[in-house]
Amino acid sequence: MNDSLTSLKLSNGLQMPSVGLGTWLSLKDEMKTAVRSALDSGYRHIDTAYTYKNEDAIGEELQEYLKNGKVKREDLFIVTKLGLIHMEPKQVRRSIEMSLKKLQLDYVDLYLIHWPVTLEYDGDDENLLPLTEDGKWKTAEKSDLLQTWKAMEELVDLGLTKSIGVSNFNISQVERICTIAKHKPVINQVECNIYWPQNELFEACKKLGVTITSYASFGSPGRPGEYKEAEEPKPMEDPIIQRIAKKHGKTPAQVLVRNLLQREMIVIPKSVSPERILTNIQVFDFNLTKEEMDEIKGITVKHSFFNFFGDLFGNHQERPF
Ligand code: NAP
Repeated sequence: MNDSLTSLKLSNGLQMPSVGLGTWLSLKDEMKTAVRSALDSGYRHIDTAYTYKNEDAIGEELQEYLKNGKVKREDLFIVTKLGLIHMEPKQVRRSIEMSLKKLQLDYVDLYLIHWPVTLEYDGDDENLLPLTEDGKWKTAEKSDLLQTWKAMEELVDLGLTKSIGVSNFNISQVERICTIAKHKPVINQVECNIYWPQNELFEACKKLGVTITSYASFGSPGRPGEYKEAEEPKPMEDPIIQRIAKKHGKTPAQVLVRNLLQREMIVIPKSVSPERILTNIQVFDFNLTKEEMDEIKGITVKHSFFNFFGDLFGNHQERPF
């Protein structure tokens, strides 16, 4: 893998492996196999969240590899995210400590605010996405992003995470954090794919030294049916992607990942299939030409696969989109 794109340097100097394993919706048993396949395939970066309920399975598997010396802790890059119910500053440290316990780690490499929106905390740490009677998420009335950020910064000072960042933040939310930050956000993790390319957000974040991690790079085809629209475009079936893939002898998924890497983004494709986990990281032995990159950039279909989340947050003051 002699490719300068295998990792990206973050604004705090840390090197982040540019392809990581996504884990949203990975169930406990399949999660363990997926982590094993990922580590054996050369992944060193795993993306999870308190809300995914799979940190314990990831932790068990990591522990195996660390104990038998197959990987060293300093070579791993583990990312997890603050629970939406734990946005109140006094809950932030408790939340990361719960995640670290499940992951069986002393620190994570990156800790993200999962969403800028606060959900109501009723004292039950397992009630992750409390709902209103009409099926929307129960947002908290009070929310103070800047105070939450201050609590995140303390986690760096305490050594519980090497770096901190945000997820699903819009431009003005990232700017507000950067204005007051002692420890700047190094990442904004957002939906990004050929149909939702995030050009404006990317440029604004770049100016602030914030790297973009793309999620739903494949259009999140495995997400629950209630979150899907009847007719949605499929990035892996896009004729331009298919043609470019054929030309390089690669799969459409590999072209989608490579395109985002060449846009200087981090990519975290989710899979629980050992074969797909392997092929999704075999993206460092080919290069998309400028013409191919331009052709992909010129795709006119525009579609967000995560618009429904905006609606679930109702009128919360920090609803990002
Ligand atoms: P995604 O990576 O775009 O797509 C994952 C789906 O694609 C799975 O159903 C997977 O099925 C399938 N797949 C994977 N590789 C494939 C291949 N080579 N060929 C055909 N199908 C393939 O969607 P995502 O899971 O929504 O996003 C990726 C990760 O980003 C998540 O897992 C999570 O870690 C993170 N994320 C973060 C947020 C946030 O709010 N911050 C939101 C969403 C996602 P199999 O598993 O069966 O292979």
